[in-house]
Amino acid sequence: MIEQSEQQRMMVSEIRKLAESFDAAYWRDLDRKQEFPWAFYRALSEGGWFGITIPEEYGGHGLGMVDAALVARELARSPGGFNGVMSVHTNMFGLEPIMKYGTHEQKLRFLKPIAEGQHMMAVAITEPDAGFDTTKIRTRAVRDGKGYRITGRKTWLSRLRESKTVLIVARTTPLDEAEKKTKGISLFVANADDPAISATRIPALGRHTVPSYDVGIDGLWVPEENLIGTEGEGFYHLLNVLNPERISVAAEAVGLGQLALDRACRYARERVIFDRPIGANQAISFPLAEGCTRLEAAWLMVLHAATLYDAGQPCGTQSNMAKYLAAEAAYEVSHRAIQTFGGHGYAVDNDVERLWRESRLALIAPISQEMIMNYVAEHVLDLPRSH
Ligand SMILES: Cc1cc2nc3c(=O)[nH]c(=O)nc-3n(C[C@H](O)[C@H](O)[C@H](O)COP(=O)(O)OP(=O)(O)OC[C@H]3O[C@@H](n4cnc5c(N)ncnc54)[C@H](O)[C@@H]3O)c2cc1C
Repeated sequence: MIEQSEQQRMMVSEIRKLAESFDAAYWRDLDRKQEFPWAFYRALSEGGWFGITIPEEYGGHGLGMVDAALVARELARSPGGFNGVMSVHTNMFGLEPIMKYGTHEQKLRFLKPIAEGQHMMAVAITEPDAGFDTTKIRTRAVRDGKGYRITGRKTWLSRLRESKTVLIVARTTPLDEAEKKTKGISLFVANADDPAISATRIPALGRHTVPSYDVGIDGLWVPEENLIGTEGEGFYHLLNVLNPERISVAAEAVGLGQLALDRACRYARERVIFDRPIGANQAISFPLAEGCTRLEAAWLMVLHAATLYDAGQPCGTQSNMAKYLAAEAAYEVSHRAIQTFGGHGYAVDNDVERLWRESRLALIAPISQEMIMNYVAEHVLDLPRSH
């Protein structure tokens, strides 16, 4: 077992205290009203919790992925679940493409305000016709004077309207002219409120306090100093930063699962039917015990991946496996939490239905379980590539 340092134990205890001061009623209300949790966002910002992995010279704490995973799990385990942790995800854990490929000046301009909680940045990768095949994106960035003019369509952009800036992935060389399909993609930072960007909220299953949008980009001009990394190499820049996102989402899924498990166990101890607590029935207790076991295994894989990442070692397999195991465990446990509550689990006021809706997301984004299996089949088992 990987031991936590004294500093990590204190950090976890402090973030827990702050996050738990926003109770289940706060989240239930905002989820119903589909409103962004600004009070929660401000409390974390004022508490100095943003920029966990952003270097100190850019306003962050310069901590590692193990620290980030500990904080992510704790936040998701607090009553907010994914509604809470995913509202502050980019502020807390940074924007890896800029951290890794941005210039010193770009980091000061784009990362520092995020670490200091002045504003948020959205990320615009997904397109309606490209899905998980990012090489098929059609959003174009064409040279125009001392900058680029961007036109295209994006979808599922989280917090776009709540953010000040947006990282846009666009083709600087069309697919049929590119040397190979992974070339000719570039990364840009733009103002999210530019009039050339239109956005419509997507009605969604869950995570109602963190909206996602369908977005049109119509002739958006971006100065050349907002190009991140090397023109045409954006796909590789993205590939190189996937692991931290997978690790932090996996940690969040473990936290969400633990929240559902805690709620279910409390209910199973208290609810008396047929003259005994329902938790005395193995039909109720075994699935919860199994869920607890799965969550613990997923957490160990999260720590394993995060430790490798912090040591600068390859961790693609472990990050993918952690995300896979954590998403499965969170979904299964939140499903069992509803079953434990019986009819009461179907009621909004008991929160477990919200956790189950939220848990569904981790099976799809930021990468689906199927795409992880593709990765493991190809890279671990040396089986032929499927796509
Ligand atoms: C709530 C939410 C928030 C999001 N936030 C953002 C954001 O802020 N920014 C952003 O850019 N994106 C965001 N996304 C997008 C997300 O990261 C996924 O990339 C996107 O949903 C995948 O595209 P798609 O739905 O078109 O799936 P598709 O690519 O159409 O895939 C559909 C299904 O087919 C499966 N599939 C496809 N190809 C294969 C294959 N070769 N083998 C096996 N299975 C396959 C997939 O696993 C999936 O189950 C968000 C998504 C959601 C739901």
